[in-house]
Amino acid sequence: MSNKPSILLVNPPIYDFAAFDFWLKPLGMLTIAGKIANKADFKIFDFLDHEHSFYADKPKFKSDVSGRGDFFSSIIPKPDLYKNIPRHYRRYGLPAEIFADFLKTTPPCDFVFIQTVMTYWYLGYREVIEAVKTYQPQAKIVLGGPYAMICPEHAKNLGADFVSAKNNSDSLWGFLNINPTDSFPPLWNVYKNPQTAAMKITRGCPFKCTYCTVPIFDGEFTAKPAERIIEEFNFLISLGVKNIAFYDDALLYKSDEVLKPFLRYVIDNKIEVSFHTPNALNARFLDVELAELMIKAGFKTFFLGFESSANEFQKQTGSKIFDNEFANAVKNLIAAGADRNSVAAYLILGHPKFEIQNIEQSMKFVNSLNIRVMLSDFSPIPGTPDGKLCEKYIDINEPLMHNKTVFPIIVFGGDTVNRIKDMCRDLNRKVSNCTKPCSIPAD
Ligand code: SF4
Repeated sequence: MSNKPSILLVNPPIYDFAAFDFWLKPLGMLTIAGKIANKADFKIFDFLDHEHSFYADKPKFKSDVSGRGDFFSSIIPKPDLYKNIPRHYRRYGLPAEIFADFLKTTPPCDFVFIQTVMTYWYLGYREVIEAVKTYQPQAKIVLGGPYAMICPEHAKNLGADFVSAKNNSDSLWGFLNINPTDSFPPLWNVYKNPQTAAMKITRGCPFKCTYCTVPIFDGEFTAKPAERIIEEFNFLISLGVKNIAFYDDALLYKSDEVLKPFLRYVIDNKIEVSFHTPNALNARFLDVELAELMIKAGFKTFFLGFESSANEFQKQTGSKIFDNEFANAVKNLIAAGADRNSVAAYLILGHPKFEIQNIEQSMKFVNSLNIRVMLSDFSPIPGTPDGKLCEKYIDINEPLMHNKTVFPIIVFGGDTVNRIKDMCRDLNRKVSNCTKPCSIPAD
């Protein structure tokens, strides 16, 4: 018997109108676990794991070749706050009974870590906490991740024993009574056979967009040392990982020092892996050389943050990108060999400054560059300048009201949202007969 504390890592189910596995992995929790990898015994229960035996006779829920896929889901009653939202509400992820059986048959754990992401997914976090309290009442529960940081007071009321409300873990180590070491990579080997993983090689962002939490929580831009990046990458390759999503917020910033040397390493060593960028890339930094290196190294999808082609909107929200810079980046990617169908521009739908955003004109501008539009439904975030603007529409202290399906409907009404999404679909068809959804579909 080991004398080390036992820690159960849980990636919770999602309660939402829509959810799709866009390389959604609990990187934050695995990073924390990695820092104490040799000081505790770990298990994981990932409600969003496509490889679980529950799916043995349900191939529809297996990941695709890029590591994305549909989650198993069931329609559930809507919270009262959503009664006027004309969409089905669902619970995504493995059924609760499977987790209950797992908890009943697992020896008592000392701690349970729960990964949180969206603030408005807290019903999933609460479900996990209640199950742990029922079947493993001795375990101390730790909540960490974006929800715990953005809504710490709300999180404290869910029943966890420790809420990691800051973007540093000093108080967590005290709570666990374990001293971390910084020499281990994120604990991806807690999965049996990981095919898809995520990396984060930088932290922070040089911009201060008014709708974004990164300037609030992540501080100045910093990058990991090159040798550390390569060590983490090689660890993933040694585990058999085929798809890697970058979770960086400013992956392309200072690329001469950070990303380009890493890509040259991948190319020179002929390592075959597919890279993806679900977090928006800042196209301003996508020069000719970087575009060529990204394609050669194995980047398969390019999601570029654009939000609007309206100059006034761009200036008022942080000036992260302007039209000419965006068009130039698209030109560089296509010249380097990117498939047009794999390049998409994120445009915010339902921003409180919609009057100056001009969403329809913005979609036409992106379409004129012959790439796809991806509508990114706006989620109001407390503590951001744009979250403040939303207080005239919603109670910002209620995380359910941050839901990205809900807010655009409150601002525009359901018919207008549907019309804009139809228009987006029609424009994307002109790019390459593309019939993929133009945002994560809610039904
Ligand atoms: S550029 Fe991106 S990460 Fe940086 S502040 Fe703006 S939205 Fe956030």
